[in-house]
Amino acid sequence: MASTSKYVSELIEKLIAKNKGESEFHQAATEILESLDLILDKHPEYLENSVLERFVEPERVVMFRVPWVDDKGKMQVNRGFRVQFNSAIGPYKGGLRFHPSVNLGIIKFLGFEQILKNSLTGLAIGGGKGGSDFDPKGKSDNEVMHFCQSFMTELHKHIGADVDVPAGDIGVGGREIGYMYGQYKRMTGLSVGILTGKGLSYGGSLARTEATGYGLVYFVEEMMRSNHKGDFNGKNVVISGSGNVAIYAHQKVTDLGGTVVAMSDSAGYIYDPKGINLDTVKQLKEVERKRISEYVKIHKSATYTEGCFGIWNVPCEIALPSATQNEIDEQSAKTLVKNGCLAVGEGANMPATLDATNVFLKSGVLFGPGKAANAGGVAVSALEMSQNSQRLDWTFEKVDAKLKDIMINIFNESAKAAKEYGHDGNYVIGANIAGFKKVAEAMIAQGAV
Ligand code: NDP
Repeated sequence: MASTSKYVSELIEKLIAKNKGESEFHQAATEILESLDLILDKHPEYLENSVLERFVEPERVVMFRVPWVDDKGKMQVNRGFRVQFNSAIGPYKGGLRFHPSVNLGIIKFLGFEQILKNSLTGLAIGGGKGGSDFDPKGKSDNEVMHFCQSFMTELHKHIGADVDVPAGDIGVGGREIGYMYGQYKRMTGLSVGILTGKGLSYGGSLARTEATGYGLVYFVEEMMRSNHKGDFNGKNVVISGSGNVAIYAHQKVTDLGGTVVAMSDSAGYIYDPKGINLDTVKQLKEVERKRISEYVKIHKSATYTEGCFGIWNVPCEIALPSATQNEIDEQSAKTLVKNGCLAVGEGANMPATLDATNVFLKSGVLFGPGKAANAGGVAVSALEMSQNSQRLDWTFEKVDAKLKDIMINIFNESAKAAKEYGHDGNYVIGANIAGFKKVAEAMIAQGAV
C-alpha cells in the first residue's frame, strides 16, 4: 500500500487517543482509513465535509445493565451494548454477540466494519452491532431465556423495524432470537420485523440460516473463477469454527465437490483427511451443544488437537476462517502460504490480523476480506426485512438465487474499485472503497448530521 498521508495518520492517532484500550476498533479503523486515503485526492468533497471525522464516530452508543436470575435463584449481572454507528443509507443493521470477551472496542470494530459490509450488499441498510459479555455456554435454556428477556427489556427502547434491526452473531442463534423476539412482542404488543434470523413459523426467511456460509463460498468461488484459479471441485478446504457460518460453508463446499478436512471450536480442532462428516458436527454443535473433541469418538479416521491456532498447519488449497477475530496471525498465514494455499475467504469478521493479511496479499494468495466475503448473512437479513414488510414468504430457491447474485456483485464491485485506484486484485482496498463511496455520498447529501 502507498504511504499514508499526514491527514489520515493524524486521524488514526486521534482515534487511538480518543478510544483508549479499544484495540480491535483501532485495528479495523486503521485498515479502512488507510484504504480510503487512496481516494481523497479524487474526492476533495470528503475533506470539505469532514466525512472521515464523522465516519469514525458512532451516531450513538448504548451501554446497559442486564440483571437476570440463574437456576439457583442467584442474581447475575452482565453488560449489554448497542452501537448505532451509521444510518446514512438506511436503518442500523447488524448482529448481537453473546460471548465473555465482548467489550465496547469489539462491538465498535464490528459495527464499523458493518457500515461498509451493508453498503456493499447494495441494499438500504446502515451499520450497527451489539451484544453482551454473557456466556451462553453451560447455561440451561431457562437461564438463556431469562438473560434474553432482560436484555430485550432495555434494548427494545432503542430498536424498531425502520430504526435498528439486530440479528445473530457468535452465541446468538435461533434460540436466543426467539426469546428476544417474544419479549419484544410482549412488551410492545407489536408483531413487526425488529429482529432477523427469526424462526420460519414467525417471520423468518428461508435460507437465512445458511446465508453467511453459502455466501462466503459463492464469493470465494467467484474470486477463484475470475482469477483463473479453478473452483472448489477436488480441493481440500480448512474451515475454522463449527458454528453457524462454518457449518453452512462446509455444506456448500461439499455440494461443490470440495473436501473439508479440518474444523475447530474454541478448545481445539479436528482433522480428517477423508473429509469431516457434517451430520456429526451438526448433531454435536447444533443439537447437543457439545465440544468438537467428541467427534473423534464417532469417527476413528479423525484426530483431535487441543488449541485452535494449530488448525492453520493443516495443508489446504482453500482456507475459510469462520470462528472469530484475529485467529490467523502472521506465522499462521506464512504456514498456509508455504503449504500451497491458493485462496482465503474470511467467514468471520477480521479473522486475519493486519500482518497476516499483508502476508496473503504479498504472496499472491487470493484474499476475500470479511466485510465482502461474509456479507451474505446481512444481505439475506435485509431480504427477511423485505418479506416481513410485504407479509410474504419467498421460496428457498428465490432467496438463494438473490444471495448468489449479491455475492457475485460484491466481488465485482470490490474488484472494480481496487483496479480503478491502482490496486488490481487487492479486494481489501476494493471492498473498503466500494462500500465507503455510497455511504460518503449519502452523508454529504444529508448535511451536518
Ligand atoms: P457461532 O456462535 O455460531 O460459532 C462460533 C464458532 O467459533 C464456534 O465454533 C466457536 O467455538 C468458535 N469460536 C468463538 N470464539 C472463539 C475464539 N475466541 N477462539 C476460537 N474459536 C472461537 O457464531 P457464528 O458462526 O455466527 O459467527 C462466526 C464468525 O462469523 C464471527 O466472527 C461472526 O462475527 C461472523 N459472522 C457471522 C454472521 C452470521 O450470520 N452468523 C454474519 C457475518 C459474520 P465454541 O463452540 O467453542 O464457542
